This record gives sequence, C-alpha cells and structure tokens, in this order.
Amino acid sequence: MKASASSFKAGCIKRNFFKTGADVIFVLGNVDTKDFSVKATHTIKENKLANVVGVLPGKKLKEEYVIFSGHYDHIGVGKPENGDSIYNGANDDASGITAVIELAKHFQAQKNNERTLIFAAFTAEEVGGFGSQYFSKQLSPEKVIAMFNIEMIGTDSKWGKIQPISPATKKPAWEIFFKKI
Ligand SMILES: [Zn+2]
Repeated sequence: MKASASSFKAGCIKRNFFKTGADVIFVLGNVDTKDFSVKATHTIKENKLANVVGVLPGKKLKEEYVIFSGHYDHIGVGKPENGDSIYNGANDDASGITAVIELAKHFQAQKNNERTLIFAAFTAEEVGGFGSQYFSKQLSPEKVIAMFNIEMIGTDSKWGKIQPISPATKKPAWEIFFKKI
C-alpha cells in the first residue's frame, strides 16, 4: 500500500480529533492487486466553542465544590423526520440545562449555601464530550464533593421512578442533601 505524505498526515490529524478506530480499505475486483495508492482529502474547520459556567461562592466551605451540570448542544441537522431535519434537543438536553438554570436561581435566592456551587452548561457533548472533558481538567478532583449531571429529564425515566431513600431517616436522600449543601 502506498499513501501520499499529505493524505497520511491529514488522516493522522483527523484521527486525533475524532477517534474512530482504524481505517478500512476495500479493493474490489477479479484481479489480484498487489499495489494500490490512496489519496484522501480532509477539510478541518475550527469552531470556537465555550462552556457557560456560573459560581455561587460558599458561605463557609469555599474550597468545597458541588457541581450541577448539563450540556447545551444537540446533534444539529440530520435525516428529516416528518419533513423537519433540525434536531432541536428539547429533552436532550435543554431539559437538563433548564434544571441547572432553575437550581442556580433557587440557590442564589436562598443565599445560604455553605459550599461553593458551580453551575455548568457544557458545549460539544454530542460530538465527543469535549466541553465536559475540558471542564473536568480545570478543577482539583479532591475539592469536588458532589456532581449532578442532569440529562434528559423532560420525559419519564425508562428505568421507572426511583427515589433514593436515606436508610437512617427514611426520607428522600435529596431532601437531606439540600439541607446540608
Ligand atoms: Zn445528552
């Protein structure tokens, strides 16, 4: 197999950005092919994207973080369904982002969070989790007490309605958690 230097280089660049595994080439025909060459062209376009993050500093435990997050992108334009090719992503994950915004408003009004609360809307999730990966490298993991990534809450869960109950108090775990946040 011969591949030109430029096609090889472009292939490497693409593979670094989009990890898709090995390339597969099929040579079809009745002749036993010994040599063939491949020339490929890639166009790489850079888009500037940003996570959107809000912080409510803790009243007492400033160096302990509780994170609420979701992703604000969806998959864009695809195969039309009923003539509509725009995938709006109302459930995946505008519903999660709405929850993050409402939680931010709630805790800002309460003004009693002991720990630092971080509200994060991630970009480029559907193409490979790029926004959340970048975000995860900006914090020391030992400072993160809890993280709630909120995903597709616009419909009932396919696993049923499950509510964790504290074995000690027999009350919903969420209720206890929010009292101590
Ligand atoms: Zn999602």
